[in-house]
Amino acid sequence: MNNISFSKAQDIKSAINTAGSTEKEVRYIGGGTNLLDLMKYRVENPDQLIDINHLDLSEIKSTDDGGLVLGATVTNADTAYHEKVEKNYPLLSEAILAAASAQLRNMATNGGNLMQRTRCYYFYDTSMPCNKRLPGSGCAALEGFNRIHAILGASEHCIATHPSDMAVALAALDATVLVSGKEGERKIPILEFHRLPGDTPHNETNLKKGELITGIELPKKGFSMHYAYLKVRDRPSYAFALVSVAAALELEGDKIEDIRVALGGVAHKPWRKPEIEKEFQQMTASRENFEALAKKLLEGATGYGDNDFKIPLAKKTIVRALTEAMEK
Ligand code: SF4
Repeated sequence: MNNISFSKAQDIKSAINTAGSTEKEVRYIGGGTNLLDLMKYRVENPDQLIDINHLDLSEIKSTDDGGLVLGATVTNADTAYHEKVEKNYPLLSEAILAAASAQLRNMATNGGNLMQRTRCYYFYDTSMPCNKRLPGSGCAALEGFNRIHAILGASEHCIATHPSDMAVALAALDATVLVSGKEGERKIPILEFHRLPGDTPHNETNLKKGELITGIELPKKGFSMHYAYLKVRDRPSYAFALVSVAAALELEGDKIEDIRVALGGVAHKPWRKPEIEKEFQQMTASRENFEALAKKLLEGATGYGDNDFKIPLAKKTIVRALTEAMEK
């Protein structure tokens, strides 16, 4: 039996100091919807849990420049149904409501959503090699059953995907993750928050030791006119994405003023290429151009056998999501 110490953080500073100044394995806990599962499977074996639910991080507030900050401990359900999120960022509401179950969304927090870990079967099975769980042990998925695994940005050390739907919409919306640590506060653009696996798949984010997510900032532009979140999965609810697409358009007639496409279920992080999107600005919003964008976005996509189907599926899902966004 492992001894685990549990404390309730009284303020952000003391929580950060505790987590940042020890060699022990410390985890912040909000809703615990993924962390407790990982502990039951003995995948995560923390020495200490710090409950952050009583910190002042449980509000959704407007910013001076017309954006919104989602507190880290606001639940996914309260975020999805918040008046301003529904009105100005419906893409985010849709993505959150496509995830998990109502019960889980009532417990899961915004910060925890970003910190959830892959659902690779071998990661959860401690009898199997897994570089993410035990660095240097190998990757059982490469030669194993890899239907749910990555087609983009993977490495010979790990082909896992990030499971979040919320993060995919946040990527399309150019959100920023607000964090606090011993060295102060900083803002991490969502596309730089999660990492590709490379040769250190156990390092999943660019958070420093002890840093705590305090909120997620959304810029003013929410693409509330033309958007779609399309999630392809094995059953209509309570399933992770095989492929998901967050699509957003700003149109002037049939001309594309701005376009965003972020993919989920295909990589170790939400997959988005702003440089490719820029090439399609000022072009006509048409199936032909959406297909061309999909082709570019999936350049270099590689299957590992069981997940080969994801490459054509992702192309079709991108085109369909953009078409739905355009026709909204
Ligand atoms: Fe582990 Fe990643 Fe390989 Fe899955 S894909 S077994 S998480 S190293």
